[in-house]
Amino acid sequence: MLPAINLASTIPRTEAEGPGLRYALWVQGCPLRCPGCCNPHYLTGRPARQVSVESLLAEITQTPGIEGATFLGGEPFSQPEALGALAAGLRRAGLSVMVFSGHPLAHLRARPAFAPLLTQTDLLIDGPYQKDQPDTSRRWIGSTNQQIHFLTDRYRELAGRWPSGETVELRLRRSADGAVSISMNGSPSDDISALIRATLRRKP
Ligand code: SF4
Repeated sequence: MLPAINLASTIPRTEAEGPGLRYALWVQGCPLRCPGCCNPHYLTGRPARQVSVESLLAEITQTPGIEGATFLGGEPFSQPEALGALAAGLRRAGLSVMVFSGHPLAHLRARPAFAPLLTQTDLLIDGPYQKDQPDTSRRWIGSTNQQIHFLTDRYRELAGRWPSGETVELRLRRSADGAVSISMNGSPSDDISALIRATLRRKP
């Protein structure tokens, strides 16, 4: 029986985490400790939302209009079996799978334990996020050390013509008690983040 997926958060429809409209999921837990990690609250392996492969697969495939899913973290390859099964189901349903990993591709290929997810990945962005090397030219990519790998033909047309620019999405949510919160996703550079924060602080 497959283990449950330890899920930190999800955004069902986003254009800020890869090509097209995508379902993005962030897993809980990462063994790496990149200086300036962009998601430090996702590092510990504490139990977060425990969800079965079947129910998450149903949730994603029923999301209208998406062309694929993106796995981020945390470290997706710390849950290779469950996420590999999820990815296989998504691809059977015609959706694409993009994965961000702090592990370099050579490391992933050298260890059979990673194969269940690696063999189901269309597009891999590898290498740890490095805060001091922000990437402001390749859309969706956090730092310049990270490499794009087309592991299948699914997005090979983007080789040599990867989109440029930065995409950031802001979401406002009102909870049941009436409180309003704001969240941001994408890979904004420091100046864009500072601009957003200054704008939000500005009084009307
Ligand atoms: S691989 Fe990603 S989640 Fe893990 S420490 Fe590095 S930046 Fe953080």
